[in-house]
Amino acid sequence: MNPIRQHLIDPEICIRCNTCEDICPINAITHNDDNYLVNAEICDLSMDCIAPCPTGAIDNWRLVETPYTLEQQGEWEELPPQQVSAEVPGGGDEALESEANGLLDIAHAGQGGKGVAPATASTPSINIYTRDKPAVAVVQGNVRITHADAESDVHHIILDLGSSALPVLEGQSVGVVPPGADPNGKPHVMRLYSIASPRDGERPNHNNIALTVKRVEYQVDGRTVKGIASNYLCDLQRGDKVNLTGPFGSSFLMPNHPQANIIMICTGTGSAPFRAMTEHRRRHMPDAPGRLLLFFGARTRGELPYFGPLMKLPSSLIDRELVFSRETPGAKEYVQDRMLKRADDIFQLLQDENTHIFLCGLKAMDQGVFAALESICRNNGVEWSSLSRTMRDSGRFHVETY
Ligand SMILES: Cc1cc2nc3c(=O)[nH]c(=O)nc-3n(C[C@H](O)[C@H](O)[C@H](O)COP(=O)(O)OP(=O)(O)OC[C@H]3O[C@@H](n4cnc5c(N)ncnc54)[C@H](O)[C@@H]3O)c2cc1C
Repeated sequence: MNPIRQHLIDPEICIRCNTCEDICPINAITHNDDNYLVNAEICDLSMDCIAPCPTGAIDNWRLVETPYTLEQQGEWEELPPQQVSAEVPGGGDEALESEANGLLDIAHAGQGGKGVAPATASTPSINIYTRDKPAVAVVQGNVRITHADAESDVHHIILDLGSSALPVLEGQSVGVVPPGADPNGKPHVMRLYSIASPRDGERPNHNNIALTVKRVEYQVDGRTVKGIASNYLCDLQRGDKVNLTGPFGSSFLMPNHPQANIIMICTGTGSAPFRAMTEHRRRHMPDAPGRLLLFFGARTRGELPYFGPLMKLPSSLIDRELVFSRETPGAKEYVQDRMLKRADDIFQLLQDENTHIFLCGLKAMDQGVFAALESICRNNGVEWSSLSRTMRDSGRFHVETY
């Protein structure tokens, strides 16, 4: 029997707003008490329901020999795994996929091997939009989020996805291909940017995402040269269009269970995925027993992206350690120094199998942070090299530094 393409709705992302059921012109979509269900005997794959879905939960497909029944779909807590790569809608740009994987492999190198997704992470969608068929987003907002006097110019950029279903999970990235060509006439290569908003949108239940982008500048022969993609993004005006590829990333993902303790360690734009994770917890599991512990380093508070909003989060939601290396003359402190001050708390969390460590931001952080973790473990008679391997292999140790 030839496989057929079955349309399904992701129960983990769906917010049960009933839009798809209302919109389906042939009543192929129904729901039970738990999930929204697509009747494969009725569905004609017209796609009428795809664009209006606010979360992208609707945009899921499986090649199957025997379609999943309504009863089966009604019991799912997550979608069954993809069987073949042809199922990825719009996929097929192998060069782009391998480019993204290459960038991610380099970014994840610090965890000492290929990352594994947390056991309770939702199933990510990947490689939906390609260079030839990008998601075209429209800039809704672009604001500087470091102080006007700060050296680093970091922007919070909100992108409206319009009718494109771009399902994302906290921890994933999108690709940006800047318009134009390099000096050799070749199209610019893609750059990855972490998504800074949670899965249900920058604005809850809206089809938009946020990025945190630092304007890059560097010196060549005494001249200041501007980074191509970051300057393109930071200069965008409201209403401008941006081509996005992806989403990308299938291991650096938020654990979903409320018992998960999440230790988040970052500098600068490394805060983007942690903003997404924290906001997901705040919106959907504000009373989760699992702890959020954030170590966030910057030179000064003016240089720390999202300083104001971070300070407003309740301490019952997140335990914040904001660390400044230039705030007080003669008192330089880095993220790893503060981690050592919180050694007892960190070690206590490391004993708990619900604890996940995420590190994101500048590659230069890796060594200092690993040394702190080594020291914390050594002082408690534990070998970090072995613990980190165990945590990595069980999807609990994640590094994304660039
Ligand atoms: C998984 C992942 C997630 C990321 N997430 C984010 C994020 O959320 N926010 C963010 O701001 N960034 C993020 N980045 C980094 C981002 O992808 C870009 O690398 C960054 O914005 C710089 O791109 P650019 O095009 O502006 O700079 P480019 O033009 O690519 O230049 C980048 C660097 O290359 C070097 N360089 C390039 N050309 C030369 C030359 N001729 N001579 C000397 N040096 C040169 C310089 O060191 C320069 O700083 C992420 C990267 C990865 C891998």
